Amino acid sequence: MPDAFLNYIDGKWVPAANGETYLDTNPARPGEVIGEFQRSGPEDVDAAVSAASQAQDEWRHTPAPLRGEIIARATRMLVERKPELAETITKEMGKVLVDSGYDVQGAITSGEYMSGEGRRMFGDTVPSGLPNRLAMTVRGPVGVVGIITPWNLPMLMPAWKLFPALVCGNTVVVKPAEDTPLSAVRLFEVLEEAGVPPGVANLITGFGPEAGQPLTTHPDVDMISFTGSRAVGKQIATLAGAELKHVSLEMGGKNALVVLDDADLGEAVTGALWGGFSTTGQRCTASSRLVVDSRVANEVVERLVDGMSSLVVGDGLDPETKVGPLINAKQLERVHSYTGIGVEEGADLVVGGEKLDESFGGHFYAPTLFDHATADMRIAQEEIFGPTITVIRVDGDEEAISVANGTRYGLSAAVYTRDTARALRAVSELEAGLVYLNAPTIGSEIHLPFGGVKDTGNGHRESGTAAIEQFTEIKTVFLDFSGTLQRAHIDEPTSPD
Ligand code: NAD
Repeated sequence: MPDAFLNYIDGKWVPAANGETYLDTNPARPGEVIGEFQRSGPEDVDAAVSAASQAQDEWRHTPAPLRGEIIARATRMLVERKPELAETITKEMGKVLVDSGYDVQGAITSGEYMSGEGRRMFGDTVPSGLPNRLAMTVRGPVGVVGIITPWNLPMLMPAWKLFPALVCGNTVVVKPAEDTPLSAVRLFEVLEEAGVPPGVANLITGFGPEAGQPLTTHPDVDMISFTGSRAVGKQIATLAGAELKHVSLEMGGKNALVVLDDADLGEAVTGALWGGFSTTGQRCTASSRLVVDSRVANEVVERLVDGMSSLVVGDGLDPETKVGPLINAKQLERVHSYTGIGVEEGADLVVGGEKLDESFGGHFYAPTLFDHATADMRIAQEEIFGPTITVIRVDGDEEAISVANGTRYGLSAAVYTRDTARALRAVSELEAGLVYLNAPTIGSEIHLPFGGVKDTGNGHRESGTAAIEQFTEIKTVFLDFSGTLQRAHIDEPTSPD
C-alpha cells in the first residue's frame, strides 16, 4: 500500500470530502508510487477558503515582525531537512539532485528574505501640500490568496508565493500541481511545525479543473497568484478578472540566448548547455532558442554537439546524471511531437530527437538540437518545455535582437559578447523581464524581481520587494493637525507666477 497524504485545512490533515484520491508516481520509474493524494473538489476548496477567511482577521492583526519570526522558524527547518527534501523532489519530479537542491535552497532563501520583510514592509512618508499635515502610505494584506503552482519547481514555487503572502498578513490556500503534491505536503508539515496558526495556510491537492478552477472563482478569494502555462493563465485571468480579484500571472517563455560574433564561444556554449538542458529543459526560463551570428554558428553548433555528448541521461538520484526524465508520459509525447514538427518544418535535426522511455524505463527523452531553424517556425515560437534547443542563424546584431524579440513571450533573454557597447544596446533592446549578459537565461536570484513582459505575465513581478507590492494593499493616510478645514488643491499654496 502506498503512503497516503491528506489535505491541510484549518490546522488539520483531512481527506477530500468526495473520498477520492490519486497516485503520484516517479517519472524515472513510473511503476514506483510516491504516494496516494487527495483528489480535491469544490467542497474542499470551500472548506479551505472558509478556514482562510476566518483566520484572516487575527493574522492581519498579528504584528508583521512576529509573522516574520514564524517564517524564519520554518526556514530553519527547511535548512535542516534540505537533503531529504531535495531527494523527495527528485523522486517525484525527476530532476537531478543538484537542481532539486536549488529548488529547496530557493525556498530557504525566499524564507530568509521574507522573514526580514516583517521588520521592513516600508511605506512612504511624503511632504503634504498643506501645512500641519502629514502624508504617508501604510501597507495591509490583500486578504485571502489562492496560490496555484506548476510542477517544475515544486517547493520553490509554493514557497516564494507563500512566504511573502504570509508575511504581508494574507491567509492562503495553496493548490500545487497534481504531479508534485508531496513537495507541497512536506512544505506544509514544516509550516505546521513552525507554528503557522490554523487556517492561515491551507493546502488542497488535486487537479486544475477540479480544484484550481473553483479556487479561482470562489467569491471569498481576494487574489489569485498563478504560475503555469499561458493557456491556463488566460483562463484564470478571464474568470478571476470577471470577479475583480487581484490576479498575478507568471506564464511561459521562449527564451533566447543570443551569441554575437565576438562572443567567447566556449563560455556561450557552456551557458547554452546549462540553460537549455538543466532540469531537462523544463524551466520557464530555459534557453530554448539560440540566436547565433552566422559568422560563428558552425563553431557554436560543433561545440554544442561535442558538449551534448557528455550529457548523461538517467535517474536524477544518480550523481552521474545530467539530464533526468520529463515529468510525465503526456509531456514526453508533446516534446517528441515537436521533434516531428521541426523536421517537417525543414529545420536540421542535428542530435537526439528520440524517445528513450522503452530503453530507460521512464519518461526519458534524448537531448535534442535543431539547427538552421527560421524564426517563424513553431519550434522557434512555441514553448516545448523539454530538452530541445533550436538554433536560429542571423546576420548581425540588429537581426539577432529582432529575432530574439520575435515571440509572444518575454520572460528571459541572454546575450554573449565581449563588446560593452553592443552588450548595452542589447540589454536596452531585449524585450524580457530578465536579461543576462554573458550568462544563460536561467539563474535569477530571490532578492531581485522576477517575471516577464508580453504574454509571459500581466504586469506583476515576484520575489524580492516586488512580491511585497503584489501581496499588499496600500492605504494612503493624511494626518491633519492644523485645527482647521484645509482643502487640498484649493487652499494649497500654488507656484509663484
Ligand atoms: P499548467 O498551466 O498546466 O498548470 C499549472 C497549475 O495550474 C497546476 O497546479 C494545475 O493543476 C493548475 N490548473 C490547470 N488547469 C487549471 C484551471 N482550469 N483552473 C485553475 N488551475 C488550473 O502548467 P504546468 O504544466 O504545471 O507548468 C508548466 C508551465 O509553467 C510552463 O508554461 C512554464 O513556462 C510555466 N512556468 C512559468 C514560470 C514563471 O515564473 N514564469 C515558472 C515556472 C513554470
